[in-house]
Amino acid sequence: MGTPTEIMRPTDTVGWKSGFNTIKRVTLLALKSPWMVAISLVSTVIATALQLMVPILLGRAVDQTQALVSEPTTAETATAALWVTAGSVLLVWVLRGFFTVFQNYFSESVGHNVGYTLRLAYYEKIQRLSFGFHDRVHSGDLITLGMLDLEAVRMFFSTGLVRIVLLSMLIGIGGYFLLSTDQVLGLLALSFVPFVAWRSSVTQLKLRGTWLELQNRLTVLSRVMEENLGGIRVVRAFAAKSHEMQKYAVASESALELAHERVDIRVRNTSIMTFSFLVAMGLVLWLGSGKVVAGEISVGTLASFLTFMTILQMPVRQLGMLVNSFARTATCGDRIFALLDLDLAITDAPDATDVQISDCVLRFEDVGFTYPGAAQPTLQNLSFTAKRGETVGLIGPPGSGKSTIAHLIPRFYDVSEGAITLDGQDIRDVILQSLRGAVVVVQQDAFLFTTSLENNIAYGDPWAPPSQIADASASAHLNQFIATLPAGYETVVGERGSSLSGGQRQRMTIARALMLRPSVLIFDDSTAAVDAGTEQRIRTTIQAKASERVTIIVAHRLNSLMHADRILFLVKGQIVEQGSHAELLALGGRYRTLHDLQIRPEEPQS
Ligand code: ADP
Repeated sequence: MGTPTEIMRPTDTVGWKSGFNTIKRVTLLALKSPWMVAISLVSTVIATALQLMVPILLGRAVDQTQALVSEPTTAETATAALWVTAGSVLLVWVLRGFFTVFQNYFSESVGHNVGYTLRLAYYEKIQRLSFGFHDRVHSGDLITLGMLDLEAVRMFFSTGLVRIVLLSMLIGIGGYFLLSTDQVLGLLALSFVPFVAWRSSVTQLKLRGTWLELQNRLTVLSRVMEENLGGIRVVRAFAAKSHEMQKYAVASESALELAHERVDIRVRNTSIMTFSFLVAMGLVLWLGSGKVVAGEISVGTLASFLTFMTILQMPVRQLGMLVNSFARTATCGDRIFALLDLDLAITDAPDATDVQISDCVLRFEDVGFTYPGAAQPTLQNLSFTAKRGETVGLIGPPGSGKSTIAHLIPRFYDVSEGAITLDGQDIRDVILQSLRGAVVVVQQDAFLFTTSLENNIAYGDPWAPPSQIADASASAHLNQFIATLPAGYETVVGERGSSLSGGQRQRMTIARALMLRPSVLIFDDSTAAVDAGTEQRIRTTIQAKASERVTIIVAHRLNSLMHADRILFLVKGQIVEQGSHAELLALGGRYRTLHDLQIRPEEPQS
């Protein structure tokens, strides 16, 4: 199994064994709709058999017409026979049409069922994959995999499996008919088959190579656009339109160049294939007409040969598409299954039980942590305890590991050494869902969904009564602001909360966290965007309920955490000082220096 970044890299080198396994898994997925598979395969067989009858019937019609011309005495019988043949051709063609509709409808439906199953499994897996995975994989790549690769696998049933039945019947039975009627003429009629099959396969494989590269280049394009849209305010603020346009134009041009190359490959090869088919047809006509004149075959047989060739032409050209369908499914499916098969780094232990909170004691025991793939540990030998009703503040220079601590408690990552316990239960031994109900982090990034304020606040508990929502908003000092809005709680926020100010967004995320009434509430620098007055008010409200839980405050402003019962000063992932505000001031260490820098000038006013 590859690393996350290896899985996301488009590649065309899948081993035979793994390719075979992937094809087998996709086929088994298709077989989950057994009736649809059966109807589509039976319809394909019937439609192809009917199609094969057409050249024979047409040949007969030609012979009957000739009899009508050369033996006028039996004109009446010959006309009647011709009518029967004409009627049969019509009937066969109409029936073939019906069965082709069945074949297309059911094979497409099977494909859509496969796509649906895979799409849900893929999305579910993405929800469960650890942050360690998401840190290393670009979300644009995940979207491409979930859209383009999945689409390629979805089409396998109709473009691969059904086509294999259709092509082997047409080429097998058609070829047998031609060879058994006249060996030399048959060989001549089939002479274009190997050449066209080879050319078509080579073309499709070449196109596939360029398709993978095109996919890479389109991913770059979508990344540029995604980043531009995500950072639209920065772009505008720095008047960087022309720089952004240039970036996009370069990525676009590189995609366009490759698209032209693909058109060139396709057009050139189509012409070569058509030419070789016409040469074979000319030769059959030339040799066949000689045989007709010599009385060796009838005109009708020659007509059948030519019709067979015309019918065979398309499927033989499609052989390349069949090869491509297998190659594409093997590689795209391989990537999708590799992701679906990834072991979940963070998952419930087999004997996990719901977390039981009684005294609500959170303990870090000699915790060490290294980010997946990082060379240096971020946290080392970290120990502290916090009880219900206590507030612990984490402060220290940027990069000292404060947010990392906040992310370890709800198990966004697992500790590398030591343990984190809640009332004596190692958090790795409890059911994740229950842990995340008990431990809530208010993140730095105030992310909101494009839905109403009410839905955003009640995100973690959609069935909560309105009074609970109102309570949470009041605690986050949002209620006055919401009361001024014409639609109140029904007001829909813009994409990522763009219609709200930074402070309002942040208060929304605080309300969302408070809704869950967690046992451990962590503020990860989440009041940085809120003005000092509002922060003070939020703090007072939160403190009023702090006796019900452990509160952890990560901040870089001393004002935000100096009221904490205990403050841990972190440097390079280790606690270098700890104590209450007064104790740390008295210590005269780093905390004191920071205090003198941040607070002193303001103290006279405060
Ligand atoms: P703080 O919150 O104190 O500013 P962080 O906990 O965010 O610090 O980061 C601590 C260290 O871990 C930094 O060196 C940072 O570069 C690194 N780090 C943070 N997040 C990740 C991540 N997702 N993957 C790898 N390294 C990370």
